[in-house]
Amino acid sequence: MPILVFDLDDTLYPELSYVHSGFRAVAAFLSPLLLVPAEALAAGMIAEEAEQGRGQVFDNVLRQHGRWSKTLVAACLRAYRQHQPELTLFPDAERCLTRFAALPQYLVTDGHKEVQTRKVAALQLAGRVRHAYLTNRYGRHRAKPDPHVFQLICQREGVAPNQVLYVGDNLRKDFVGIKPLGFKTVRILRGNYAHLEADEAHEAHRHIHSLDELTQEFIASLFGQPLDLPA
Ligand SMILES: [Mg+2]
Repeated sequence: MPILVFDLDDTLYPELSYVHSGFRAVAAFLSPLLLVPAEALAAGMIAEEAEQGRGQVFDNVLRQHGRWSKTLVAACLRAYRQHQPELTLFPDAERCLTRFAALPQYLVTDGHKEVQTRKVAALQLAGRVRHAYLTNRYGRHRAKPDPHVFQLICQREGVAPNQVLYVGDNLRKDFVGIKPLGFKTVRILRGNYAHLEADEAHEAHRHIHSLDELTQEFIASLFGQPLDLPA
C-alpha cells in the first residue's frame, strides 16, 4: 500500500495566510507602543511584504515611527513566532486528505519547530496524519533535502522508498535528496516556486496544479501497480 507524505507550507495551506496572521499579531503588540491603530500597522506590513518580501518588515515599521531598536525588532519576531495562527487548508488539500484517509499519511516540514507545531495544530492535522515530522526536531542538518525523516517513515511503515510518495512545492529542496533513493515525487505548482524551472535532479517525477489531480489512477500509474484502497 502506498504511503502518502505531504509538505505543509504552500502544499496543504497558503503560507502567506500565516505571514499575514503573524503581522496582525505584531500589529496588536506594537499598536499601544506606537499609538497607531493595529489595523493600519497590519495593512502597512502586508503591503510592504507584497512589494519587497518579508525580510525587513519589522525593521521598517519601527523606523517609520522613529522607534527602531534591536530589542523591539526581536520582540516583534517573538510576537510573530509565538502567535496562535488561524489557518485553513486549501479546499483541494482538505478533499485529498479525506479521499485517502485509508492510506498511511504523513507530513514532513522544515522550519522553526514551535512555529510548525502551531501551524499543524491550527490546521487540525494531528488526527489526520500518522505523524507530522518536523525536521527541525532532529537538528538543522536534517532539514530537506536531507532524507533522514523520510527514512524514518520507511522504517516505521516497514516499506522501501519506492512505496512512498512525497508531494511538495519547493523544487530547491523537496525532491533532490529523496529521488535518488527511490522515493516517488510530485510537485504542486503553487506558491513562490510555481514558476521556477529546475534541472532534472531537482525536478519531481510529476507536476500537478491541484491536489484534486492526485487520484487513485494517478497514484497507481506513478507506482506502476494498482491501488487497492482498504474498504
Ligand atoms: Mg512548501
